[in-house]
Parts: sequence; structure tokens; C-alpha cells
Amino acid sequence: MILYCATSNPGKLREFTLAAERLAAGRFTVRPLTGIEPCAEDGVTFEENACRKAIHYSRHAPGLLFAEDSGLEVEALGGAPGVYSARFAGPQACDQDNNRLLVARLRGVADRRARYVCVVALAERGEVLATFRGEVEGRIVDEPLGAHGFGYDPHFFYEPFGCTLAEAAPEEKLRVSHRGRAVGAMLRYLLGQGEGGRQINASPR
Ligand code: IMP
Repeated sequence: MILYCATSNPGKLREFTLAAERLAAGRFTVRPLTGIEPCAEDGVTFEENACRKAIHYSRHAPGLLFAEDSGLEVEALGGAPGVYSARFAGPQACDQDNNRLLVARLRGVADRRARYVCVVALAERGEVLATFRGEVEGRIVDEPLGAHGFGYDPHFFYEPFGCTLAEAAPEEKLRVSHRGRAVGAMLRYLLGQGEGGRQINASPR
């Protein structure tokens, strides 16, 4: 079954594709939906933004579509950058700009606890069917380490692995990450195995 996905972030798309291959034994193909007028991400929660995107983009998709909103919440920064993670250092900021600002804001701060949050909203023809939330706890380190992943991964130290998520192999990150957990829950839901999982009446497309 094709699952349309609304994202322009290549790092996220790689992880969604890997999740469909690894977590659902290839029963779903993730296909990016392109060429649609972007939708405003002006919600104040991950849920709000994920639902807004899912409603907007699914009106243009020929089948089931999912959208996600995700970000980093840093304890000592009161949960920032949160829903503003992609534009922490400004509207045109790249990952390096955001990471530099993160490290600067935490200079001299002992409490480095942080979490990634991901909310996935599944929709069809402008209607949200369900949302799924995943989280992973870690801590922020000053020195960037690792070349995998994207975004804040070189600074996100995951204790059980003893390394940053940019040092972990993509499959390993997927197994524990906020995105892996949220997408895994959606795939189980679609397969009718989720908590209260309801089989969606979606024929193969
Ligand atoms: P948005 O969901 O498009 O608003 O952007 C989410 C932003 O959060 C990304 O651009 C990254 O800065 C950050 N982010 C979300 N998930 C991850 C992740 O798995 N690794 C690193 N950074 C992430």
C-alpha cells in the first residue's frame, strides 16, 4: 500500500522509508507528495502542526497520507526550541546555525537533559484518522560527534548507546527514536495491531 508523506526534509524522508521497510516488512511504500503549496506551521504544539499539515496535504493526495511535526525540547531552556526547532536560529537557519545557537545557550549550564518529540498525523481526504506520538530522552553535548542522522543529532547523546544519535547506525536510531516510535505505532495501527488498533478500510493502491 502506498502511504503518501508530506515532508520536504530529506533526513525525515530517509527515516520514514527505512521505517516502512524495517517495521512493516515492505507492506507499505512511502511516497513523498510534492508540488503542493506549503501549509503554515503556526501551531503551538506538535499535535496541532502535524494535524494542520495532514489535513492540508491529504486533500491533494490520492490515498492515505501522513504528516509529522517533530523537534527538540531542552529542559534547561523551558522546552525550547520545541515546535520552533527547525528555525531556532532564524527563519533561514540551517542545522549548523541551530546547533551553534543551542550550544551557546547551554554554555555553563549543568542540566543537559533533552528529549526529541515526534507526532505523526494520518489523514485521508482532509480528515485526520489518528495521531501517534513518540519521544526519546537524551542529553546535549557541546562537541558534535557523528555523521549520520540530521538536525541536532550530533549533539544529542543517547545514554543506552553511549554515543550521539549521529554516531548510531540509521537502523539503531530508528529502533529507539521518537520518529521510529511514532511511525511504528502508525504502521501497527494500519496493520490492525496497535493499541485499540482499528483496521483502516484502505484497499491497496
Ligand atoms: P519540522 O517538524 O519540519 O518543523 O522540523 C523539525 C526540526 O526538529 C528539524 O528540522 C530538526 O531541527 C529537529 N529534529 C526533529 N527530529 C529530529 C531528529 O530525529 N534528529 C535531529 N533533529 C531533529
